Amino acid sequence: MRSNVDVGPVGEAVHAASAGVAAMVAATRGGDLRWVSHDALAALLVQTRALQARLESVALAAVREVDVRGSYVSDGALSAGAWARMHARVTPSEATAMVRTARVLGSGAAPGTADALAAGEIDAGHVRVIAAAVQQAPAGAVAVIEPEVLEVAREADPRAVAAVMRRFTDALDPEAADAAALARYARRGITLAALPDGTMHISGLADEVTASVVATAIDAASPPVTGDSRTAAQRRMDGLADICRRYLAAPDAPRAAGGHPQVILTLDAATLAGPGSGHGGPGGTLSWVGPVAGSTARRVACDAEVTMVLIDQHGRVTHEQVQRRLFTPAQRRAMIARDGDRCPVPFCDRPVAWSDAHHLRAWGEGGPTTVANGALPCAAHHTLLHEGGWSLHRQPDGRYLIRHRDGKTIGPEPHPPGHHRPTPHPRR
Ligand SMILES: [Zn+2]
Ligand SMILES: [Zn+2]
Repeated sequence: MRSNVDVGPVGEAVHAASAGVAAMVAATRGGDLRWVSHDALAALLVQTRALQARLESVALAAVREVDVRGSYVSDGALSAGAWARMHARVTPSEATAMVRTARVLGSGAAPGTADALAAGEIDAGHVRVIAAAVQQAPAGAVAVIEPEVLEVAREADPRAVAAVMRRFTDALDPEAADAAALARYARRGITLAALPDGTMHISGLADEVTASVVATAIDAASPPVTGDSRTAAQRRMDGLADICRRYLAAPDAPRAAGGHPQVILTLDAATLAGPGSGHGGPGGTLSWVGPVAGSTARRVACDAEVTMVLIDQHGRVTHEQVQRRLFTPAQRRAMIARDGDRCPVPFCDRPVAWSDAHHLRAWGEGGPTTVANGALPCAAHHTLLHEGGWSLHRQPDGRYLIRHRDGKTIGPEPHPPGHHRPTPHPRR
């Protein structure tokens, strides 16, 4: 299907360019770049990008020519986009952008843009953004916009170009801008897709105002801390979860049927009692996500604001809608005063703001909900304490250690950073 361009001046030029590029590739792959100065490497990047841009203008001209002729049908393609996809091996959306850009450049609607790309002054990415906006811009607007847009494109990335285009077109046609804003707003949405393994795929699209609110809140709720090993994505999810927990715990949260909206965990008595009772139980069921492991169920039951429905082995409801506020805010404050504002697990530096309340001796094993039996491990360590087989122990001097069920012990840390200890009085 592919044949060489071997006819006429275009063919000769492609041949010469190929020879030049081949020489460049051979030289760089031969290791010649090792002797090139840092500044020259930057120049090389700029020059090769410019060459790519100029080649893009040639490629787009080819797409345009086939589009105008309609000759894509001779390859069995139903559109110029399908034809471009066939030969350029790009995604459908890239092919669509390619054809749109080729049409705009070929139409003469944006002559300065076509010249700048052909001169290698701006990139294909810039031109795609400009072409998309030109297609939607009112007649005559492009001539007004183009010089300033190109000035930005020579200096900045395509996002900056898109911002300038949007401001211009919005100002030129406020009604169209409003309609476009409404259309973007209508596309908003969030999808919560429960997956077979119990996790949930959360995805969505936000209009610009909502996006700004959501991003600001998640950013504020997910600051990195010293020694933070979480990825940015993990921090954002922790931040979002923190926002949601606070919302559900807030006294003015909207009422759901029957009272406060709550995460509901259903688990049987054996699961609640845990492995200490001789059997771990079959696990629990959590609202929205379904079955969870026994240790996960006990971790959820360990923290506050859970409504539990206790069902015995015979399926009888023994306690219906028992409202258990496990640790009160006052108890949490007392624990922070005692243990400091950091996770008590040795060598962890996470702030208590993202902590769960934990029963040192499990609630299901008779551990009381008291400050003496409580601690505030970070959510990650709380997970390790329940699902990971570790237990947390406070020593008489107030420092903590963790012990795995196989006997391994970590801690106590010699000088826990958050731990509050009275300063000895200096001797006179
Ligand atoms: Zn716990
Ligand atoms: Zn921790």
